[in-house]
This record gives sequence, structure tokens and C-alpha cells, in this order.
Amino acid sequence: MNIFVLLKRTFDTEEKITVANGKIEDDSAEYIINPYDEYAVEEAIKIRDEHGGEVTVVTIGEEDAEKQLRTALAMGADQAVLINTEDDLEEGDQFTTVKILEAFFSDRDVDLILGGNVAIDEASGQVGPRLAERLDMPCVTTITKIEIDGTTVTIDRDVEGDVEKVETSLPLLVTCQQGLNEPRYPSLPGIMKAKKKPLEELELDDLDLEEDDVEPKTKTTEIFLPPEKQAGKVLEGETADQVKELVSLLKTEAKVL
Ligand SMILES: Cc1cc2nc3c(=O)[nH]c(=O)nc-3n(C[C@H](O)[C@H](O)[C@H](O)COP(=O)(O)OP(=O)(O)OC[C@H]3O[C@@H](n4cnc5c(N)ncnc54)[C@H](O)[C@@H]3O)c2cc1C
Repeated sequence: MNIFVLLKRTFDTEEKITVANGKIEDDSAEYIINPYDEYAVEEAIKIRDEHGGEVTVVTIGEEDAEKQLRTALAMGADQAVLINTEDDLEEGDQFTTVKILEAFFSDRDVDLILGGNVAIDEASGQVGPRLAERLDMPCVTTITKIEIDGTTVTIDRDVEGDVEKVETSLPLLVTCQQGLNEPRYPSLPGIMKAKKKPLEELELDDLDLEEDDVEPKTKTTEIFLPPEKQAGKVLEGETADQVKELVSLLKTEAKVL
């Protein structure tokens, strides 16, 4: 089976991020594999081990993304591709990302593509479904279980805490949700092996794309942090007194009564 994983390098949201001049300043932040994409890597490896084939991890990003790709290789993926846009593009949006991925997949034999349900930094959740549409493939989002029998695929998907069961067929694109699996930590032998696994680097040119072809369709006009929350007030005393004080505060401070 030809299995592909879409992997995004994201900053760790546990990090303190600052916003300056309408942009997120993440220069000093730690970078990680988008956590939903870790589920995708883990599931891809399990499916490969059960059904045979190869797992290829693909990311669009800059040179530094090699570190996250090597981590995926150390987990057990077979090869990686970095589509390096560093020299070609300064800006991009979901259209850019999907257009590049569409070009990448245009001449590849694909059985299964696994992506994350959402990227934790920009969180649009668009890339998977949009790519499936461009590749004319069925798409199932937020999957928590997948079983493959021949070309028939049975899936459980998370629907706001409920489970929906779906039957579909390969070739297929799925997006992975928490609960699908427990991603493994790369082992020491895995890390050593990963250094020798193939990591191909491509640029827009290699995909027959010009900058104009991938020009973003949207423009981010402003990014700002939410206003800081005031500390809450704990009322004390007899319940009847607390109710009186609450009503008074709702009138005089919150001005909602
Ligand atoms: C060349 C380029 C320049 C960019 N410049 C800017 C910029 O200046 N400012 C800005 O705010 N954003 C920029 N972006 C980021 C872009 O706007 C979004 O991050 C991207 O379109 C994905 O949207 P999302 O993060 O909401 O992902 P979602 O749709 O939430 O991601 C879902 C899943 O899609 C897959 N995926 C998402 N992104 C990638 C990727 N890069 N590679 C592989 N798989 C992926 C992963 O599996 C992920 O879990 C740029 C992107 C590109 C490609």
C-alpha cells in the first residue's frame, strides 16, 4: 500500500507566543509535529505493518522542518519529502498548501492519505477535505478507528463525542482525531535508522508550479490576543446575602440588569 502522511511543523501551544505588528512572533518557540499528525504517523505505520507497503511523510515548510520529518522517520515511516518553499514564497494560505499538495500527488500512486484533523496553530481544518476534493477522493474526517479489508475501509469517526460508523473505499483521505491511537516515542535504534532513511527535498519548480499558481486567496488583516481576563470574585457569607450582593453587582458593575 502507498500510504502518505501530511505533516505540519507547528509551534508548541504550551509556549508563550507574542503578537507584534499583526504577526505571531514565534522565533524563540519550540517546534513540534502537529499533535494530530502524530496520530496520523502512528496509524500509517500500523497499517503498513499489517498490510505491507510504504509510509511517506510529506511536509510543506522550511529547512527546519527536517527535524520533525526525521522524528516521523524515527517513529517508523519509510521516507520523507520536504517541499521547501523558503526561497519561493513569503506568504501562503490553505489554497497555497492544497495547491502544492495537489501538484505533489498528481503523478503518484496513492492508496491512503492521512492528515491531522486540524493544525493546532492556525486551526482551520481545511487542508484534508480540500485536498481530497482536488484529488477526487473520498474523505472522512476526525477518525478514531480504521479497518482495511481489500479496498473496503470501515471507519469510526468522532462526532462531537458520539461515534459515526462509515464504510468507504480506497483510495481515500482521512483526518485523524485524538483517541485513534497512542503515538509511539521514537526508540534509540529508530533514531539511528532515521538518519539514513531517504528524505527528498523538492521546490515549487520540481512540481511545475510558479509563484503565481499558489498565490494565497486570503489575506490575514489582523491578529490580536484576547483581552486579559479579570480575576473572578468569590462571594462569601449567608446564601441570601450572597444573592443580594450578586444582584447588586450585576446591576452596578456588570450592568446587565
Ligand atoms: C508557503 C506558505 C507560506 C505561508 N505563509 C504564511 C504566513 O505568512 N502567515 C500565516 O499565518 N500562515 C502562513 N502559511 C500557513 C498557512 O496559512 C496555513 O497554515 C496552512 O494553509 C494550513 O492551514 P491550517 O494551519 O489551518 O491547517 P489545517 O487545515 O488545520 O491542517 C490540517 C492538516 O493538514 C495538514 N497540513 C496543514 N499544513 C500542512 C503543511 N504545511 N504541510 C503538510 N501538511 C499540512 C496536516 O495534516 C494538518 O494536521 C503559509 C503556508 C505556506 C504553504
